[in-house]
Amino acid sequence: MTRHKVAVLPGDGIGQEVIPEALKVLEVVARESGTALEFEEGLVGGGAIDATGEPLPDATFRLCAMSDAILFGAVGGPRWDDAPTDRRPERGLLRLRKELDLYANLRPAKCFPMLIDASPLKRSVVEGTDLMVVRELTGGLYFGEPHGIERMADGSARGVNTMIYTSREIERVARVAFDVARKRRRRLASVDKANVLVVSQLWREVVTGVARDYPDVKLEHILVDNCAMALVARPTQFDTIVTENTFGDILSDEAAILAGSMGMLPSASIGGKTALYEPVHGTAPDIAGTGVANPIAAILSAAMLLRHSLDMGPDAEKIEAAVLRVLEKGYRTADIRQEGTTLVGTVQMGELIAREVAALYS
Ligand code: NAD
Repeated sequence: MTRHKVAVLPGDGIGQEVIPEALKVLEVVARESGTALEFEEGLVGGGAIDATGEPLPDATFRLCAMSDAILFGAVGGPRWDDAPTDRRPERGLLRLRKELDLYANLRPAKCFPMLIDASPLKRSVVEGTDLMVVRELTGGLYFGEPHGIERMADGSARGVNTMIYTSREIERVARVAFDVARKRRRRLASVDKANVLVVSQLWREVVTGVARDYPDVKLEHILVDNCAMALVARPTQFDTIVTENTFGDILSDEAAILAGSMGMLPSASIGGKTALYEPVHGTAPDIAGTGVANPIAAILSAAMLLRHSLDMGPDAEKIEAAVLRVLEKGYRTADIRQEGTTLVGTVQMGELIAREVAALYS
């Protein structure tokens, strides 16, 4: 029997509520498919700071590095907002991404037919939206040196961040994006600001070079400001989008609106040996502990984990089909509630999906 080890890091807030539901679904998959999935939990984020003083204790890092995949919840919350920068919960996630070399973040944004009216955008705009944003995750403005605030003797100050990319960093994320596009509708939009930024000019040059190895994928270059408009005006024009870290951070949140709720969106961070899967949303302190969080983003993240890290594509498809079935039957958590549907909480939604997954194997 194949054995896979999965590191489970629920983190803070609703991470503690949605990850157990994703595990419930993975346990059904393991049982029904005859795959041995071994789960081991680790501390991360605010809870880890409280317990050990560190947002990513060494024991958690070791657990992640020796696992086949990581299922992550979310970290942070008002309790730790005033902590010094290196003791903030999100440092744990940033360190994990950097040390595991998770340089490509994959975020699908799909509009589920039965949730079209949950989107603030018009039905005629969002209907049929099915895109994937591939965001470079370990370079660019968020990591470039020098950075910092320089205080002058006259009381003024100067803040500096540096946007820097090497051709190697651009090439490797471009290859991930072309590979993703190849498995989808074979269209790739590379987003940059080449009319102003030299970094973007290099980005465009390298992506164009990589395209020669993918003659079956149609590449277009689009400026980030234009892309921001097109995403909410004509989202169906996109299939796969690839972009650098900062642009990707903003555009992928914008794309989240197309799916109706943050509670529906999974993500994968890939690159190094061990990939990390997490819902796009944060710890939702406003609803944490009340049992109303939508676990679907976490459950769909578990499906991505099966597909990308464990080569269990058909099992991932069963989870995705089960989510659709439960939504078709009219069950909704509060964030996606519509008239005439049945309101359920986090645990009930997890159980409904787990039961549908089991039914799909029989
Ligand atoms: P958030 O995603 O936690 O919440 C935004 C809004 O969406 C809230 O109203 C919340 O109730 C709702 N929401 C989010 N997920 C939901 C779900 N599954 N079901 C139902 N409703 C859901 O973003 P925020 O409020 O900006 O951040 C809260 C905390 O989370 C902050 O400390 C932030 O730093 C952290 N955060 C962490 C991550 C991460 O760990 N990757 C990502 C984003 C934010």
